[in-house]
Amino acid sequence: MDEFVKMHQNIIFESTLSSLKKNGFNAILANSREEAAEHIMEIAKDCSTVGIAGTHTVRALEVLPKLEKAGKEIFDHWKFKIGTPEEVECRRKQGRADLFLSSANALTMNGEIVNRDGCGNRINAMTFGARKVVVVVGKNKITPDLESAIARIEEVAAPIRAMSLNRKTPCVKSGYCMDCDSPERICRITSIIHKRPMLTDITVIIIPEDLGY
Ligand code: SF4
Repeated sequence: MDEFVKMHQNIIFESTLSSLKKNGFNAILANSREEAAEHIMEIAKDCSTVGIAGTHTVRALEVLPKLEKAGKEIFDHWKFKIGTPEEVECRRKQGRADLFLSSANALTMNGEIVNRDGCGNRINAMTFGARKVVVVVGKNKITPDLESAIARIEEVAAPIRAMSLNRKTPCVKSGYCMDCDSPERICRITSIIHKRPMLTDITVIIIPEDLGY
């Protein structure tokens, strides 16, 4: 990597980690996916149940098989057909798991975690319910501030997510948010975690590569 690109990245990581710590979060820079998975395994040591959000980022760490091998009960709603009672029940259980694993739609350099959900199981589990939360974020999701975080959701994260779910929403054609009234709209709740919620232990792990969307 070009030394100046690396220098620029390091400034962004250091600033974001420092802001997160100031806001009460545990904040870690993992140098690789493997290192991130090791941190998760350490955090999960005293946990029996683990919920996982609909996240490509966390799955890319290949940590779920390791957690299962360690005897953890995993609540992963992707194992069930969407909309079935089993899938909905699994989403509920995520919100009371000992540990909840997620990514975020955006992480600001001011140390704020920003998400937009359709169901709200992710936002719910991240703010109250799960005892511990780990948020894994690739460098592509770090934005300077809240305005750019929302722009990232509307221009990148939500349209791509709508495409992946095969939704008939206008953003799948335009490539950016049209603030639609579609019954298939996936953007229904926006959450900004400004500071660590009082009763939840949240660790943010930053990985220096592009991960998820
Ligand atoms: S509000 Fe509608 S158009 Fe905008 S990103 Fe969400 S689903 Fe797409």
